[in-house]
Amino acid sequence: MIETDTLIVGAGMAGLTAARTLAEAGVPVTVVEARNRVGGRILSHHIGEHAIELGAEFIHGRPPELWALIAEAGLETYERGGTDGCAEDGSVKSCDMPGGAFDLLEDLKDPPTPDVSFAEYVGSWQISDLERVSLLNFVEGFNAADAREISSASLGAQQEAEDATDGDLAFSLPGGYDQLAEYLAQRVKNFEGCIHLNRHVREIRWSHHAVQAISPDETFTARRTVITVPLGVLVSGGLSVSPRPRQIFDAASQLRMGHAIRFTLRFREPFWKQLPKSPIEDLGFLFSFDELPSVWWTTHPRPSCLLTGWVGGPRSEALAALTPAELASHACSTLARIFSIETARISDLLLECHTHDWSRDPFSLGAYSYVAAGGLNAPQQLSQPVEDTLFFAGEHTDTTANWGTVHAAMRSGLRVAQQILKGMP
Ligand SMILES: Cc1cc2nc3c(=O)[nH]c(=O)nc-3n(C[C@H](O)[C@H](O)[C@H](O)COP(=O)(O)OP(=O)(O)OC[C@H]3O[C@@H](n4cnc5c(N)ncnc54)[C@H](O)[C@@H]3O)c2cc1C
Repeated sequence: MIETDTLIVGAGMAGLTAARTLAEAGVPVTVVEARNRVGGRILSHHIGEHAIELGAEFIHGRPPELWALIAEAGLETYERGGTDGCAEDGSVKSCDMPGGAFDLLEDLKDPPTPDVSFAEYVGSWQISDLERVSLLNFVEGFNAADAREISSASLGAQQEAEDATDGDLAFSLPGGYDQLAEYLAQRVKNFEGCIHLNRHVREIRWSHHAVQAISPDETFTARRTVITVPLGVLVSGGLSVSPRPRQIFDAASQLRMGHAIRFTLRFREPFWKQLPKSPIEDLGFLFSFDELPSVWWTTHPRPSCLLTGWVGGPRSEALAALTPAELASHACSTLARIFSIETARISDLLLECHTHDWSRDPFSLGAYSYVAAGGLNAPQQLSQPVEDTLFFAGEHTDTTANWGTVHAAMRSGLRVAQQILKGMP
């Protein structure tokens, strides 16, 4: 039996941020994590000088808490850029993405009432079928969401939140996103906090100011607990909470866990730079709307031989069952069509394909959350403490409309730490 004051379930960015803030304020904290590592949906694979991200990769804009942590940890960043390319008739041409009908997404800042799904909302717009399909694919891909479910109002709130932090800019950590999680974990330990890995909490039993967290190897007891498991784990019953706080689970039922397939191919050389029919030297993003994946990106301006493919939302199911080898083979034939070159030429240049199946990972059960139509208040409800004993954090509980990001997870961790500190004598 391990006793502590505040028990934090999950060592992702939400859990580590809360733990670090509380530990630094002198609160005894213990973090319990099911995996054999910290970071959760941050998972960096280090090969030579490259960090290949299998989870979060981009820093979206300039969220202050994330940049403050990067500065504190003294980490190197670089701004992503380059020319966007669109695949068209066997070649890749530079194109403006988003643009055209995509400007209509600005209308989301004044969403319909009552709230409807994005698919229903777009159905009322006077645009061509092609534009409609492109918009649906774009929203599904970016949000890993089903357009028939995702709330239009939440997309509007998200756009406003992105505008407030230059969300159209993207940056990366060349040394790996995992450096942030490692840094936070070290801070927790420096301030006498404990982190227990390989502890799968299966059940939380609680009453006012008395919590028991039961894992097969150990039982932890605490005055309060912060539950940061991903939405997918919370709603699937992967962690049972008894008694079950109804208001929390009612709110969680108005959110959805989105799904995505992301894989990074490492080649011997960046072959896409040397193709006479597709002469984009500084290719950043590549859009291929008739193909799966329909979104690709390079690491431009940082030189590398890496190309990443992304499919978000229901279309990701088509690639979900593929092994990394099958995914690599599918990717090579897709890229061959996009660039009009022989599949064998691309396959010969391919060294490895790196991916992680977040949907079948029992500790995430999906990629990241989104709000279903009518559920815009659900994250706010999830952020309310239950009897000063149960606290919920994680990207899905973010109250600033940045769901599905690293800074949302951090914000929820900071929020929960403040709630706990405020309630202390
Ligand atoms: C493929 C992919 C790409 C992404 N790209 C980006 C991006 O470019 N930029 C960006 O900002 N965000 C991105 N995200 C989202 C970002 O990774 C998440 O929003 C963020 O990391 C979530 O942090 P969290 O602490 O809320 O959850 P998590 O990181 O999931 O942490 C929760 C922790 O709880 C643990 N846990 C689960 N169940 C139990 C249990 N029963 N007992 C104990 N521990 C348990 C998990 O193992 C995990 O460590 C991406 C996510 C994915 C999957």
